[in-house]
Amino acid sequence: MMPIVLTVDVHAEDRPADVSRAACWLYEHGLQATFFVPSALFEDAGFRHHLVRLPFLGLEVGSHGHQHDFAEIRAPMRGRAADLGFLRRSHALYQETFSDAPVSFRSPAWCPLGPAAIDMLVALGYRVDSSATPQRLPIFSSTPYADTWLFARRAPYELAPGLLEVPTSCLLLPAASPTWLTLRRRATAAFLRLLLWETGRHANGIPCVQLHVSDFVPDVAPPSPEEKLSWGSFLPRPHGGLRFKVLLRERDPRRVYAITQEIIETLRGAPRGGFVRLRELVKSPASHPD
Ligand SMILES: [Zn+2]
Repeated sequence: MMPIVLTVDVHAEDRPADVSRAACWLYEHGLQATFFVPSALFEDAGFRHHLVRLPFLGLEVGSHGHQHDFAEIRAPMRGRAADLGFLRRSHALYQETFSDAPVSFRSPAWCPLGPAAIDMLVALGYRVDSSATPQRLPIFSSTPYADTWLFARRAPYELAPGLLEVPTSCLLLPAASPTWLTLRRRATAAFLRLLLWETGRHANGIPCVQLHVSDFVPDVAPPSPEEKLSWGSFLPRPHGGLRFKVLLRERDPRRVYAITQEIIETLRGAPRGGFVRLRELVKSPASHPD
């Protein structure tokens, strides 16, 4: 039996209450998941009390950097240890908030990790990284001129001693909220079934899917994009990529919610075993997927 990993990324533009709504929804449906949270939100009074409840609902909280801004997207790629202080800060804030150390990490916008960033994650004691999006098309990413994990392995592997890479599933586009909201419900189901079939072909393959907290909310539209359409929206920016893409996404909350239901049903229907949190993939050496 192989596990399925559901991840939920939280961002500053989300409505704080949506964190609890998503968490309760998962709890009520008996689903395990890993939430990736930028640690600046632990210091935000609006978010904090929603975030500290997550472990009580059986949900894992992982680190999603500190500010989740372009400085934090550039620094891990460039690989200068001096720019990576935000990883240490994020770890310390997590420890302060939960009286426990984070186990899992995902870089902001799945940005590539250079050797210095990987070393820092190991030094901080992280055991799982889920930043890779293998063979993602750079042109549709936030960093169109960088190597966006083009040659990364598709199944989990040891990224560094003691650090397991569990890639976010990807078939040119990541198995993630922006993709679901662009494809809409039926194409999402088809994409996901193709991905589950493809993952099953790898001996150690683990489907790892991402959602946003607003995807679980059937009555309020997702946070609106700051973007206004202009000619510049069609030129890939070094930081942000092709911006018109954000305007293609589904905004009707009922339809967004229907897409989420479709995703969960499709994953539940897969003959691959149950949902696990990322930290469970390294709990004991015997359950180590490689
Ligand atoms: Zn993110």
